[in-house]
Amino acid sequence: MLTLSNNARQILNERYLLKDNKGHIIETPQQLFKRVATFVAGCEKRQKDLFEIQFYKMLSGLYFLPNSPTLMNAGCKKGQLSACFVLPVEDSLKGIFNTLKYAALIHQSGGGTGFNFSKLRPKDEIVSSASGSSSGPVAFIKVYDAATEYVKQGGKRRGANMGILNIDHPDIEAFITSKSSRDAIENFNISVGISDDFMRAVVQDLNWNLINPRTKKITKVLKAKDLWHLIVHEAWRTGDPGLIFIDTINTQNPTPKIGRIDCTNPCGEVPLLNYESCNLGSINLAKMIVEKDEKILIDWKKLTKTIHLGIRFLDNIITLNHYLLPQIKRITTANRKIGLGVMGWAELLILLEVPYASDEAVALAEQVMQFIKKESFTASEKLANERGVFPNWNDSIYSPKYKLRNATCNSIAPTGTISVIANTSYSIEPLFALAYNRVGILGNETQTEINTLFIEKIKQLNLWTPQVENTVLRTGSIENIKIIPDHIKHLFKTSLDISWQYHLLHQRAFQKYTDNAVSKTINLSEEKTAEDVSKIFMTAWNYKLKGITIYRYGSKTNQVLQKCSLN
Ligand code: UDP
Repeated sequence: MLTLSNNARQILNERYLLKDNKGHIIETPQQLFKRVATFVAGCEKRQKDLFEIQFYKMLSGLYFLPNSPTLMNAGCKKGQLSACFVLPVEDSLKGIFNTLKYAALIHQSGGGTGFNFSKLRPKDEIVSSASGSSSGPVAFIKVYDAATEYVKQGGKRRGANMGILNIDHPDIEAFITSKSSRDAIENFNISVGISDDFMRAVVQDLNWNLINPRTKKITKVLKAKDLWHLIVHEAWRTGDPGLIFIDTINTQNPTPKIGRIDCTNPCGEVPLLNYESCNLGSINLAKMIVEKDEKILIDWKKLTKTIHLGIRFLDNIITLNHYLLPQIKRITTANRKIGLGVMGWAELLILLEVPYASDEAVALAEQVMQFIKKESFTASEKLANERGVFPNWNDSIYSPKYKLRNATCNSIAPTGTISVIANTSYSIEPLFALAYNRVGILGNETQTEINTLFIEKIKQLNLWTPQVENTVLRTGSIENIKIIPDHIKHLFKTSLDISWQYHLLHQRAFQKYTDNAVSKTINLSEEKTAEDVSKIFMTAWNYKLKGITIYRYGSKTNQVLQKCSLN
């Protein structure tokens, strides 16, 4: 039987269940999962009915959910099913506006787009065709941002964008501060494309050259450390920019002969080539458990089955997808990248009674993700035997020894909506608070949530009193409630009370066994300093993370998650 939380029902009703042209809902959640399962089993040559049943069980059991566009559009006419895209931005007016048109089409279908703007000539350079001067990357990002605002994805969700500018672009300083001005960019995550050379220049306190991408001439020399401090200070003040470690990404590019990667999708979890897209799906780890002798353990068998079925599901989508552009179809079907990840990590830890902020949890993170990687690659290898390797395989790092169906297999997405549908914690994030208000995706409704696992545990201990409930509702925390034992406080430590060191250790543990990337926010309490941010960024590079984003509580006015106490 399908059991859904109230929040899940609300979100499904508003945006996922099909509606007729009068706006009336015409399917139930069961029918939604059936629609998706039937469509995705559609390309199976043998045992189609069996796969349809298995996919349905996996979805309706909330063991695995694909990214939102698949839930919204599978089985619909011209259903676009991918969440992640990267588009090139060429240094010409025609190129810039062609790409904007493509982005609008992608947003309309529920997908998000990443762009690296570093090919654009800097602001105030001569433009030969117009005998005027160029606007520069930041101005064009604003144009993209405004267009995104007006294409609200058919009312389903606002388009998400990633804007990257490389650290040696002449306009990098304006880019770094672009989200703090009064006419700030709203619909973009921005990240600086950081090279290893720059990081070494910061460490060794060297000069750094800004270079015009068109003329290749040095336009300015400044101290690497000064640029670093500008980034750090802005990130501390506003949460933006994040960093993308371009060289780390390219050391693990599965198809270097096809092209260098210079961009990721909006939340950073998938590095992609130009025009490439990727399908994501996440396993609900909180459901991968079994009870034995009154103890909860990880159900490795169930996990294995879900991984194999999940990989097959995502591979089928590449075959069945409707591609909005021939360029997207070409590269996506040549590499067949997929990203199987996880959600509910924090809840699994709570069920296992392992505190997030512990070395035991970090070791378990490695063990779980190593297992997921191994089984994902085994599943992709089996598919390669059954269906053939991905067409670019000869030009990949896996040729000639390792036959795979997919150039990448794993990715840790934020699971911003699907974790709500599955009623579990986001991605690999710790609980944000024990009670919080969540501002809806369109920003026009809020939902209050108290963590159900917490209530269960406290009831088990006979500590659930109106006083405890009130305090949790008011503060989102149990830190100051005397009657609650210390080990329970430790188990339910929330994001802002967990040190950045443990946040990063979890990100590192998952990244170690993820061939794409890990989307994670290092949440910091308000009193953290710019010096802390600098240490976090430096540690992230040393840990070989592919990207890093911090968020200091209160530094953005429209933050998605708000602790109840501040409302
Ligand atoms: N995404 C988007 N718009 C949104 C949220 C997400 O385009 O409002 C895209 C974006 O590429 C992001 C990816 O979907 O990186 C996965 O995000 P998430 O896991 O939060 O999506 P969900 O499947 O939970 O909706």
